[in-house]
Amino acid sequence: MTNPIKTLCPYCGVGCGLDVSPPAVSGKPINRDKQGTPVWQARGDRAHPSSQGMVCVKGATITEALHKDRLLHPMMRESLDEPFRRVSWDEALGRVSDRIQTVRTTQGADAICMYGSGQFNTEDYYVAQKLMKGFLGTNNFDANSRLCMSSAVAGYVQSFGADGPPCCYDDLDVTDCAFLIGTNTAECHPIVFNRLRKHHKQHKHVKLIVVDPRKTQTAEVADLHLAIKPGTDIDLLNGIAYLLLYRGYLDSVFVAKHTNHFTAFAEVIEDYKPDVVAKRCGISIEDLETAAQYWGKSKRVLSMWSMGINQSSEGTAKVRSIINLHLMTGQIGKPGAGPFSLTGQPNAMGGREAGGLSHLLPGYRSVKNPQHRAEVEQFWGLEPGQISPAPGRTAWDMITGMEEGAVGLLWIAATNPAVSMPDLERTKRALLRSPFTVYQEAYYPTETSAYAHVLLPAAQWSEAPGTMTNSERRVTLCPQFRTPPGEARADWVIFAEVARRLGFSKPFTFNGAADVHAEFVQLTRGRPCDMTGITHDRLRYEGPLQWPCVQGEDEGNIVQTEKGRFRFPSFMRNPQKLSASRLAAKRLYTDYQFHTPDGRARFAAHHSRGLAEPPDDRYPYVLTTGRLYGHWHTQTRTGRVDKIRQMYDGPFIEIHPRDAAAIGIKEGGWLDVRSRRGIARFPAKITTAIVPQTVFVPMHWGALWANKAEANALTHPEACPDSLQPELKACAVQLIPV
Ligand code: SF4
Repeated sequence: MTNPIKTLCPYCGVGCGLDVSPPAVSGKPINRDKQGTPVWQARGDRAHPSSQGMVCVKGATITEALHKDRLLHPMMRESLDEPFRRVSWDEALGRVSDRIQTVRTTQGADAICMYGSGQFNTEDYYVAQKLMKGFLGTNNFDANSRLCMSSAVAGYVQSFGADGPPCCYDDLDVTDCAFLIGTNTAECHPIVFNRLRKHHKQHKHVKLIVVDPRKTQTAEVADLHLAIKPGTDIDLLNGIAYLLLYRGYLDSVFVAKHTNHFTAFAEVIEDYKPDVVAKRCGISIEDLETAAQYWGKSKRVLSMWSMGINQSSEGTAKVRSIINLHLMTGQIGKPGAGPFSLTGQPNAMGGREAGGLSHLLPGYRSVKNPQHRAEVEQFWGLEPGQISPAPGRTAWDMITGMEEGAVGLLWIAATNPAVSMPDLERTKRALLRSPFTVYQEAYYPTETSAYAHVLLPAAQWSEAPGTMTNSERRVTLCPQFRTPPGEARADWVIFAEVARRLGFSKPFTFNGAADVHAEFVQLTRGRPCDMTGITHDRLRYEGPLQWPCVQGEDEGNIVQTEKGRFRFPSFMRNPQKLSASRLAAKRLYTDYQFHTPDGRARFAAHHSRGLAEPPDDRYPYVLTTGRLYGHWHTQTRTGRVDKIRQMYDGPFIEIHPRDAAAIGIKEGGWLDVRSRRGIARFPAKITTAIVPQTVFVPMHWGALWANKAEANALTHPEACPDSLQPELKACAVQLIPV
């Protein structure tokens, strides 16, 4: 029997290892989906250090959607009211490169925009950065990670001098107190939650605090659930800080030796006395005191957060307010402790490493930093000054750029903005105004394909090799084990081909994905995310590796394999002798040397500003949006998996019984939900799991899957001034029974 192929689940940032076997394994019946098509089988990989064999329904069913509704051939049309016609790759790429040349000449490079995805492999990200930021000279590359974790990036950079979650999943097994805020971990990062919950159940002293306006599956098993009003996170965090300070839990030695700006922070939290905070947050003073006690008395405190913190007009300030609590109590750089951002996308981390946001360059560099630009220019063989010092357009800036006529070409890849962007009707109107949109995608149709002039079929996970980095900085090789359907090609291959047609031949001639990766990691040398010790071959033979992973350090023993001599033991041949670098759980800042100029972490002094659009007499309810167990984002894949589709009839709105009675709606009755931007219709689910005056709608359903039930028709684009991440999590709405 052949060994299963080791790879990574390509859904969420937990990054679980998978063992994948072909549909026909000798001695067993052929594995088929409900329609009778043979499909590969996916199981949890017990040897993957991040997930230890566990897998959720998404990972277990991933192979069932790979062959359905695929975009098989390049297609084009002159205008959006025409049907697509099938064309050759040569014609499609000729058209794209001609149009890029025309826009460069007539409008300038900054009229070209690319909107990419945390579903990219790192190799895709890297080649896209090299083309856009390097050779075309525009920083207009942004990814859907802007909507997902850019507040965490900004928070880490401002507090520690560099991005990168300091923690690792082993911390879940040894913490004394887990503080979960703005994350429904049980449904959205289930394998992280399973591991934490196991530890919580086995050790009575371990406390689990959950902060969420909804009583989610995560909150149901908490020792303390703080159901705060939406938009009061910083009130709560500063209130806990006040109590930690005045109840004697300050680690004054750590603060004095390793931090700056504590005094300014201490002045701010004077305004967050328990009675004030309890009232603003809508919780009891006792619960607030309990939260501070749990944190203060625990030897090791691990905080975790996700979209509930990041998707906010004060997202960076919220992240920094969480980090403040760790700094004031010395809860960082040791097992079981630290501020841990749970990444949404499977490779948003790889995107950060490769510079895949409009203000970044590869290797955790910034476009604003002259030295960083010079280093990258030199490495790519560019003239000094070729990389623009101005951050490019963010995802939302691309929408406004189309409204203003400033975008001459929009290239969207592996994402579905016609469902996921805020203020969706405005987004769609802007997409209609784009003079030329290239859409590179594995599936067809999607909601976004309706806005494309050129469709380019992309190979997806399992069809092209590449690497992804999960939330704990662990890099896994995702090998190719299926042939791409039709004429689909890897994303990076398409970017490189366009670059060569534009005349950049030599810099974009790669001998495969491993070659791209080998070039990319050279740009991480000496940087906080140094990955120079990681190669495709090493990952293949040794298994996943965490960074920092520096060339020449901790590389195991030289062994002879069928592919040559490697400086590491062969995991496949001798799993008992895994190298130390693979097994060791790496934490950042264990030496308390932060990446700031003086090596000290920085406190932030932030007052709460609340919601960008608070409720008022006309729009009296707060709508919060979120995700459900099983579904992934806009359902491009999970909507095509029978088992997951059957889990939910469709979208719904959660409403508190008191509010339901006030407006006269019964269980299952239809509600029109209206905001200042749009309207959507949902059946009511009456539940005490949501606080009064707040309603919840899942965000997964776009126009293809449900009629007029798009959560983002209601949301607004007001963004955090530091991270530029929109506040997708909350807006003010009216509720009108139908
Ligand atoms: Fe995949 Fe995330 Fe589920 Fe793990 S938790 S199997 S990475 S979707």
